[in-house]
Amino acid sequence: MSIGYVASSQMGTKSEPTGRPSGTSSGSHSKDGVRGRFLVGGNWKCNGTIESAKALIKILNEGGPIPLNSEVVVCVPAIHIPLALETLRDDIAVGAQNCGVNNKAGAYTGEISADQLVDMGVKWVVIGHSERREGFEMAGEDSALVAKKVKVATDAGLKVMFCIGEKKEDRENGVTMDVCAKQLEPAAKLLTVPEWSYVSIAYEPVWAIGTGLTATPQMAQATHASIRKWVSENVCPDVAKTIRIQYGGSMKGSNARDLIAQPDIDGGLIGGASLKADFMNIWNSVL
Ligand code: PEP
Repeated sequence: MSIGYVASSQMGTKSEPTGRPSGTSSGSHSKDGVRGRFLVGGNWKCNGTIESAKALIKILNEGGPIPLNSEVVVCVPAIHIPLALETLRDDIAVGAQNCGVNNKAGAYTGEISADQLVDMGVKWVVIGHSERREGFEMAGEDSALVAKKVKVATDAGLKVMFCIGEKKEDRENGVTMDVCAKQLEPAAKLLTVPEWSYVSIAYEPVWAIGTGLTATPQMAQATHASIRKWVSENVCPDVAKTIRIQYGGSMKGSNARDLIAQPDIDGGLIGGASLKADFMNIWNSVL
């Protein structure tokens, strides 16, 4: 099967891949009629070969209907984006896990710009993941850089899963919301109100990512409510009402329903479980 890009001139916008297998979505209600659909994002991180990516795409393609109130995105390694855009069912959007801070083409060796992602047909990007902030050697993105990337991405027309979250010692010291606020502040200074409509905040306690430890639904709800209040006071009340706040941190089929049932939890960002068939149990947890 070929990617079959339609020329930009025909689309009136950027090139779009065509010919992907059709997905089957069902259902119609939303959680509260105000905030709209739940966002279920998979983060494949730096995992997989072409063969294993093909096998995972096959599992997703055969995964049955996606409830209409569940918006599903998989953020795949950059080198697997063309494969996903060619072969993944068309009711799952393809996302990237990072983009350059450069808002123009040029001498930025090794970078992939937001414009280039849009040009390929990518719809979403994860920005500010804790692993890129300080999770591995050579990581080191601070909140100022993260905010600039969010701005560049939204300017290019990408939707952003903007990750924030505290470390174990921050929670133990009772400064969870102070840490989250510091991570949000530079973006609140840079983004216009309309640009926030491209953003979903992914609250991911660092101590819960990849550890098997999950925040209890009550703990997560309390932090999500504080984040929403912060957005109301520091961005604007309308944005706070509509913005989606995903929970991330060892979410899986067996705990997703209780987390997503919380009033301020609007979906999830999922690492480990997005590499398995269990991911489908999460998108079905909204029912
Ligand atoms: C993540 O990578 O954003 C994540 C939440 O990972 P995991 O689900 O494996 O904890």
